[in-house]
Amino acid sequence: MLVDYLVEDNKNVTAKEYMGIFGNPIKHTLSPVIHDTLSEAFGIDAKYVPYQIPVEKLDAAVKEAYTNGMLGLNITVPFKQQVMESLVDIDPAARAIGAVNTLVRGAGGFVGYNTDMPGLARAIASEGLKLQNSKVILLGAGGAARAVAYMCLKYGANKVYIINRTFENAKKLADDMNACFMCEKMIPVSAADYKMIPKDSYFMLQCTSIGLHENDGLPLIDDVSFYEMASAGVDLIYNPAKTPFLCLLKKLGIPCMNGLKMLLYQGIMAYELWTGKEVSDTLSEKVYRNLCKKIYGDKIVLIGYMGVGKTTIGKHISEEYGYKFIDTDALIEQNFNMKISDIFEKYGEMRFREMETELLRTLTTKNENYVISTGGGLPLREENQKLLKTLGKVYYLQADADTIYSRVKGDKSRPLLDCEDPYNKICSMLAIRDPKYRSVADECIDVTQNTPAEIASKIIQNN
Ligand code: NDP
Repeated sequence: MLVDYLVEDNKNVTAKEYMGIFGNPIKHTLSPVIHDTLSEAFGIDAKYVPYQIPVEKLDAAVKEAYTNGMLGLNITVPFKQQVMESLVDIDPAARAIGAVNTLVRGAGGFVGYNTDMPGLARAIASEGLKLQNSKVILLGAGGAARAVAYMCLKYGANKVYIINRTFENAKKLADDMNACFMCEKMIPVSAADYKMIPKDSYFMLQCTSIGLHENDGLPLIDDVSFYEMASAGVDLIYNPAKTPFLCLLKKLGIPCMNGLKMLLYQGIMAYELWTGKEVSDTLSEKVYRNLCKKIYGDKIVLIGYMGVGKTTIGKHISEEYGYKFIDTDALIEQNFNMKISDIFEKYGEMRFREMETELLRTLTTKNENYVISTGGGLPLREENQKLLKTLGKVYYLQADADTIYSRVKGDKSRPLLDCEDPYNKICSMLAIRDPKYRSVADECIDVTQNTPAEIASKIIQNN
């Protein structure tokens, strides 16, 4: 019976409808975070549960799930090929890729789809990156690389070099995809021959499992000049958040992302197939944040004008609830061993804003609980607004100009107030910033009514 394969913690779960995932092992799957967040948001009384299926029981389990009325299923390692035997139909893209990760109810049984492929395409688009007309280098030729190779051709890549440790696997993948798209765009390359790839600008997709383990180095090619050819990069690995491949690209200033958004969107697209719902960008962001929280730890972000208590409240949260405290201004001063006013003077405001953005990016990859107090101007930059939202729940600590003035007047450490009429300056800056803070915030908290300890406790309860 299917229920015998339910992962332990789920035995008492009750709901009107069920979705699930079959794999082996499956205990550490993150998929319930995606689907349960979506069901909650849509008000659907459904739960998503993982089943650890013995290899020889897969066919019977798929059929039992259909008979039981299971709304939809995901299929993961090691069953993505094997499950194709148990379906009434298979979507042509999934058939060409040779792997199914999503089962949708059809007449008389489940129909198989592959949402890894469009999921990655949606993840890439969500980062503003483009595959169309690009030249691609694909590292790896395993199961995931097949979906990625298919995606490259479907979304308009001009040429794709597939580099792999085992040349025969790269060749097989290239031959299959060239045949499927009736083209000659895929070129297999053995890792030892990487220098035969012409010097050019390439979208690099890292699909090997190198980078999963602590002591792993660069994938397949240990030559920095090779990676300098990247115009953008994706590593399918998301845990750890930063692999050696991503660290190098970042160091070279090349836009890059890990595989967590691929995981996110393959799940979202499966959910859309099962329920007919359309998941908005805002809801996708919420799910993404929950995923980040689960893997990389919880982050509380405090924004607002000077004098509203971001540091005091942040420190309360840190001391009382065990979060690490970061003040972005203080950290930048510490990292660069310079006062912010000196950074402004020596490098200009633009450079300082870039430092803030770099710091936010680094924080998104930290696997711990943080409370982050941000500089007053940080949330005004568009790029930072997106990063803040993915980082964690954003709280706008809000106060009126009179309260702020009474708190900061006479404070000589604030260069912005070093002017003839500081009160008027506060009023005019606040008028500009307040709507921007509100648009970034998940929640606005009036800090004039409660003590810092009360506000800290309220934030923890809401988070
Ligand atoms: P496979 O086992 O099917 O393929 C592994 C690939 O890595 C092959 O190309 C293999 O080369 C290569 N490889 C493995 N070890 C080495 C090594 N020591 N040296 C050189 N090459 C090596 O795995 P998948 O394709 O299923 O997964 C690959 C990665 O993608 C995994 O890390 C997985 O976590 C990630 N992934 C992420 C997803 C997401 O949603 N973000 C979804 C699916 C996968 P060879 O052919 O020579 O064996």
